[in-house]
Amino acid sequence: MKQVKRAVKNNSYRELYQWGCEELAIAKIEEAALDARLLLEEVCHTDRNYLLVHGDNPVLEEQSLSYTAYIGQRKKHIPLQYILGYQEFMGLRFKVSPDVLIPRQDTEVLVEEVMRYLHDGMRILDMCTGSGCILLSLLQYSNDCIGVGCDISDKALAVAKENARVLNKEATFIQSDLFEKIDGKFDIIVSNPPYIPTSVIDTLMPEVKEHEPFGALDGKEDGLFFYKKIVLRSVDYLQPGGMLFFEIGCEQAEAVSECMREAGYRDITVCKDLAGLDRVVYGTKNIF
Ligand code: GLN
Repeated sequence: MKQVKRAVKNNSYRELYQWGCEELAIAKIEEAALDARLLLEEVCHTDRNYLLVHGDNPVLEEQSLSYTAYIGQRKKHIPLQYILGYQEFMGLRFKVSPDVLIPRQDTEVLVEEVMRYLHDGMRILDMCTGSGCILLSLLQYSNDCIGVGCDISDKALAVAKENARVLNKEATFIQSDLFEKIDGKFDIIVSNPPYIPTSVIDTLMPEVKEHEPFGALDGKEDGLFFYKKIVLRSVDYLQPGGMLFFEIGCEQAEAVSECMREAGYRDITVCKDLAGLDRVVYGTKNIF
């Protein structure tokens, strides 16, 4: 309580920042200083130079109060992105809420791989679309493609639709348990399905295990549940020569590749993320 008072009483910008850093460090937030700064910039509409150049300036009481509230949330390990309400991905700003997984940098590798094969006018299906970050990025960096995103969660789809509206992209979002309500054929199917084995979820950082949607993380017993289902059905929804792209957990490359091979995919390729870990698997459906 004492500290809360300190934070809201006529503090300078720098003092508030230092207070935020201490509070987050006490709560063992990994990037305490970075998060303290980003939250302060959000409430004060400033950028990183402000701390260096105008750190002695006072902060409006109203902004101090908001900052105190934000720091309080972050101390509870609520991810920074849920507090801010957005995350950058592929150079675009995506709205996020606790109903969707926060877009990850690793997933940009998936989008970039798809982009190598994507031609104007193709039909793309994003299975388990979440915030819509994969599909909407692909639409952003191509012309005249037709995009369909599906997810089992209505609440996630509401976020994806809002992102499409803000980014001015035309896409169709369908509530569907995997392929259940999907019609038609696609040139590309892309998916970052839930892939963490249930028993591993408990070992993840509190930001993830306590705040991100369990349904977007849980790949059931071996983490492969959704890959197996998607691979089997995907062949019915791809044009001959169409391609299936997955983001995978770093230990799943072999199992997912094998599953795709058994289903008749060819030219199966594994790509690494920026940390050098296996992160993407893709293959092409046979012409016959
Ligand atoms: N496709 C979304 C993303 O990559 C959501 C993935 C998920 O919910 N597992 O962020």
